[in-house]
Amino acid sequence: MAACKPLFVDSHCHLSFDGLHERLPELRAEMARNRVDRALCICTTLEEFPRVHALAQEHDNFWCSAGVHPDNEGVQEPGLADLLALAQLPRVVAIGETGLDYYRLNGRSIEDMAWQRERFRTHIRAARASSLPLVIHTRSASEDTLAILRDEARQGGPGEVRGVFHCFTETQAVAEAALDLGFYISFSGILSFRNATELQAVARRVPLDRCLIETDSPYLAPVPHRGKTNQPAWVVHVAEALAQLQGQSLDTVAEATSRNFERLFNRVLES
Ligand SMILES: [Zn+2]
Ligand SMILES: [Zn+2]
Repeated sequence: MAACKPLFVDSHCHLSFDGLHERLPELRAEMARNRVDRALCICTTLEEFPRVHALAQEHDNFWCSAGVHPDNEGVQEPGLADLLALAQLPRVVAIGETGLDYYRLNGRSIEDMAWQRERFRTHIRAARASSLPLVIHTRSASEDTLAILRDEARQGGPGEVRGVFHCFTETQAVAEAALDLGFYISFSGILSFRNATELQAVARRVPLDRCLIETDSPYLAPVPHRGKTNQPAWVVHVAEALAQLQGQSLDTVAEATSRNFERLFNRVLES
C-alpha cells in the first residue's frame, strides 16, 4: 500500500560529514520509513570527494557531486582537469556545490573575493565540458552569481549549462532570473520557518515543474525539528511546506519534485 504512494528525493545533503556519516544505517532506515527513496550527496572539497563518492558507490539510491564550496579556504584549489576527471566517474551526476558567498568576508572587500569568482567560473566550465548540471550556492552575492552565469553562458551558448540554485533564500527577481537561465530552484527547511515570509511568497510563485526539495543536512532542520541535526528523512517536511504554499497535495509535490530531480540529474533509482 505504502509502496504505491509517491516517493521523495533529498536533492542536497552532506552525509559525508562527521555527525551524520557514522549514523548512516539509522539515517537510511529513517529515510525508508518516511518514503524518502533517494538522495544526492554533495561534495564541498576535493579532499572530501573520496568519502562522498564512496557513499554513492556503496548505496544504489545515493548519487554524488564533485566540487569545492565557495566558503572553503586553505583547501586544494580545483582546476578544470581535476573536476573533469571526477565528473567521469560512475555515479557523479553534478558539479558543485559551487557559487559565491559574500556573507562572511572576514574584513575583506568584495573585490578581494576574485578567487571565489575564478573558482566559480572553473566549475561552470567543468559543467559545460562534462554536460553535468551545476549545484549553485549563492549567499549575499546573487548579482555577481547571475552576472557570471550569464557571462559564461555567452561564451558557451544559452541553455547549455543547467543546474539548480540550492537552498534558495533570494528574492522573486533572483528566482525569475534563475528560471530564465533554465535553472531549477531548490527549497530547504527554511521554507518551514515561521519568519521566512518573503521566501514563502517566492515559493508560491515558482512553477512546480522547476522546484526541487532538499535538507542540506546536517544544517537547517525543518519545523518540527528546527535546531536539531538535520537528516534526509526530514525532506518530507520541506515538501509539506511547499505543498501548503502552492495549494497542492503532498503527493503531487512528491511526484513533481522527484520527476524534476530525474530530469535535471538524468538519474532514476534503477540506473
Ligand atoms: Zn550551500
Ligand atoms: Zn550544501
